[in-house]
Order: sequence, then C-alpha cells, then structure tokens
Amino acid sequence: MRMTVLVDLDDVVADWRGQVIRDAQKILGDSNVFIHGRDYEVWDMISEYRKGFGEEAVQAILQAINAPGFHESLPPIEGAMDALQQLDHDGFDAYILTWPWLGHRSCAGEKLNWVRDKLGSYWEKRTIISANKVLVRGDLLIDDRPDAAKHGNGHDPSWQHILFTNEDWPFRPHLSDHPATHRMHGWAELPRILQEHKFL
Ligand SMILES: [Mg+2]
Repeated sequence: MRMTVLVDLDDVVADWRGQVIRDAQKILGDSNVFIHGRDYEVWDMISEYRKGFGEEAVQAILQAINAPGFHESLPPIEGAMDALQQLDHDGFDAYILTWPWLGHRSCAGEKLNWVRDKLGSYWEKRTIISANKVLVRGDLLIDDRPDAAKHGNGHDPSWQHILFTNEDWPFRPHLSDHPATHRMHGWAELPRILQEHKFL
C-alpha cells in the first residue's frame, strides 16, 4: 500500500513567517524594528512578538497577515518544491494539508492559487484545507506546529507527526524544550526521516 505523507504549507513549503515580518516591517518603518535572528522558544508568534516588541508590532503583524493577497505572496522554502515532487516520484501519496487563516476573506482561495502557480494544477488537486488536521488520514504529517495533534476535537491522529524546524533561518522558534519524538531540520533531512520510518 502506498504511504500517505501529509505536508503542511505555511513555514514548511511557503515562507509564511519571513513574509509576515518583511511586510510588518514595511508597515512600521523605523518606528519599531524587529531584531533579526532573535531566539524564539514559543511557536505562537503573536504572543512572542507582543512580549518582545509590544502591541504596535503585533498590530502591524496582524495587518500584514490580513491583507488581501498576502497568502499568495509567499516565497517558497528552500528545497520544498523539489521534495514534494520527489515524494510523488518515489511513489508516496503526498498531499499538502493546510490550516486557513480564519477571518481572512480570501485566504483559502489564495492558498490554492499559490499551489497552482508554484507547483501546478496536479498539486492544487492534492491540497486539503482544514482547520482540523487530525481528521485527515495519513501515515506522516510534516508540520512546524508543535501541537499539531492536539486540535482534533477528541480524535486521535492516524499520522505520526514530524516536527519541521530550521533553526538557521531567522524568525523561526527553536522549540528546544518541546519533547518532539521526530524532528526534521529542513528538507535536506527528508531521506533520513523516510528511512527511519522504514518508508525507503
Ligand atoms: Mg505551518
């Protein structure tokens, strides 16, 4: 049977955090300058930035995320596009599984546009948009959200979570205290993850 690999979009395939900061910095100008490369330990960006930079910075971040067109403006993450194509080529049943930014009027459509523009219509058909990832069946979920399995309304996930991190990039939380069993530091580690799970 083909193994199903679910791949998160934001901060795994598309550079969501990086674009949020770049856009928010433009909104703020020089009035409140984000410190690049600061060590973040918590995944929730809004609460971390409220502590580190104050309410004005948080409002600029929310304005950036809620802007029409934001969700289709993100640059791809290094190695992600090739990794998705490779998974498909190697016979995996791979899907993009993404949570919509609720309240943004066109986020879901923009995400589909992004996938179609960057990866083509084949991957657009393999994109699942859901605010409950636990209900989506799979063998692996590659996701940067540490508590990806905790939002299932009482259901248990069928997939094993691989925590996707890259501590070399600016704006990424280190999550050093998080007891993730499986971690993947960037897409170059995909072959190791697949081998460890006896998928290769
Ligand atoms: Mg994500």
